[in-house]
Amino acid sequence: MKTENKISQRQINRRRTFGIISHPDAGKTTLTEKLLLFGGAIQMAGAVKARKAGRHATSDWMAIEQERGISVTSSVMKFDYRDYEINLLDTPGHQDFSEDTYRVLTAVDSAVMVIDSVKGVETQTRKLMEVCRMRNTPILTFVNKLDREGLSPIDILGDIEDKLQIECAPLSWPIGMGKRFKGTYNLHRGELVLFTPGQERLTGDTVTIQNLDDPLLDQVLGSQADQLREDVALLEGAATPFDLDYFLKGGQTPVFFGSAINNFGVRELLDTFVEIAPGPQPRAAVTRTVTPDEPAFSGFVFKIQANMDPAHRDRIAFLRVCSGRFVRGMRVRHHRIGKEIQIANPIIFMAQDRAFVEEAWPGDIIGIHNHGTIRIGDTFSEKEPLAFTGVPNFAPELFRRVILRSPLKAKQLQKGIDQLVEEGAIQVFRPLANNAIILGAVGVLQFEVTMARLKAEYGVDAVYEPVDYSVARWVHCDDRKLLSLFEKDRQANLARDAEGNLTYLAQNEWQFNYMAEKWPDIGFSKTRECQ
Ligand code: GDP
Repeated sequence: MKTENKISQRQINRRRTFGIISHPDAGKTTLTEKLLLFGGAIQMAGAVKARKAGRHATSDWMAIEQERGISVTSSVMKFDYRDYEINLLDTPGHQDFSEDTYRVLTAVDSAVMVIDSVKGVETQTRKLMEVCRMRNTPILTFVNKLDREGLSPIDILGDIEDKLQIECAPLSWPIGMGKRFKGTYNLHRGELVLFTPGQERLTGDTVTIQNLDDPLLDQVLGSQADQLREDVALLEGAATPFDLDYFLKGGQTPVFFGSAINNFGVRELLDTFVEIAPGPQPRAAVTRTVTPDEPAFSGFVFKIQANMDPAHRDRIAFLRVCSGRFVRGMRVRHHRIGKEIQIANPIIFMAQDRAFVEEAWPGDIIGIHNHGTIRIGDTFSEKEPLAFTGVPNFAPELFRRVILRSPLKAKQLQKGIDQLVEEGAIQVFRPLANNAIILGAVGVLQFEVTMARLKAEYGVDAVYEPVDYSVARWVHCDDRKLLSLFEKDRQANLARDAEGNLTYLAQNEWQFNYMAEKWPDIGFSKTRECQ
């Protein structure tokens, strides 16, 4: 093997690119901080906290954007751990939950799911899991807040299996919970990791117990020793053993228990994560599948972040490297518009001490400045015309009608909406039956940002009006006759999206399902490929 190939293979193998899926308040921010702490990016950890504090203080997106310097860098948090280089892609939650949150998951190779042991599986986790399922993304689970009285561990596993339809393989097992939480027992290594409340340490006290009958167990755990013995005996009979292949196919999730705030169980999670989570994966393009070890550079854009300062209209496109080696100043082809561009000033997301690194490898994310020519889903590569797939639009669940206050600005409105749609900031639907402009989003902040940007960047004066929709599905049907019958019959609920695709808008799930049953030969989908 040539030295060059060896270097690239090593760089690929050591990369891990992942996101965290969870419901707000389950502990994503806390876990992120602890992970960064292990990676030595401690200052960054402060930034995560600061950013979130800013969010809580206000729901005003302008204030959030004032933290933009942080928010751009914390969109991708890069840290080293052991010999691995890890890219943690932020999946915005709370008020800034948006389509971006979903789309970020199309750019990761694995995910960590955080479950609050008190609440079990919650709605946002379910939705994010659906996105992971589209590409069978492998998922590791961290059951958090064991220092509180929560559901029994067996019930939590049952809840995950029922609601998320994924098999659970516990790799550690908690001993008690709440005030009686004593630690976890590593089922593989036969090791007790003891918990001391309120103590934030990088290493836990561990006791190796080869045999659960060892009286040392009683010494350490007292009356809870027998409970652990019973639990482990039960698990040996009932729990499914960890199966690496099944995990990599997204069918099984290894489960860890701990308490992020106490930094308990986090190192165990991270150690296992780097070992079993997959490195950069092959990626499907329209013509073929591209593997990370191919020498030619390629990548796709999964997120565009606007600079809200009207004086600087540039935006940053986040590109995930899929193959080859990216070097600063590289000339690459922007395939959709058929132009070659030089990426002179890429933002390469690195831990602070590596700010001047000038190259990126598969799994890494680079930020490209752009002035409105880049769209979500765009592919950049060295020579071969490629178009990566798998970066879709997701069916919005929130809708607003835009009412223009000054009709003279209709053109600007049109232009602004087109641009914002291309950036993935919002979706637009134009009903077949009237001239309304309906915007669709996954999170409410998307509406606020859109309106503020329409005003600031396009001089549009408009307001929102509520509309009675909560479901959108893209319509597919090859039978033209049937489709035109459907269009006639359901005209009041049909609209075209920005690309002219037919979309069904319904008041609620029930109404949608009722209608869909009556039209069994019409296809409806929750996602649509960008472009
Ligand atoms: P996020 O919304 O998922 O990012 O959640 P945060 O990390 O902000 O955590 C939400 C709340 O749960 C905060 O008040 C945290 O201090 C708290 N929290 C996080 N981890 C733990 C834990 O292990 N135990 C307890 N008791 N609270 C926790």
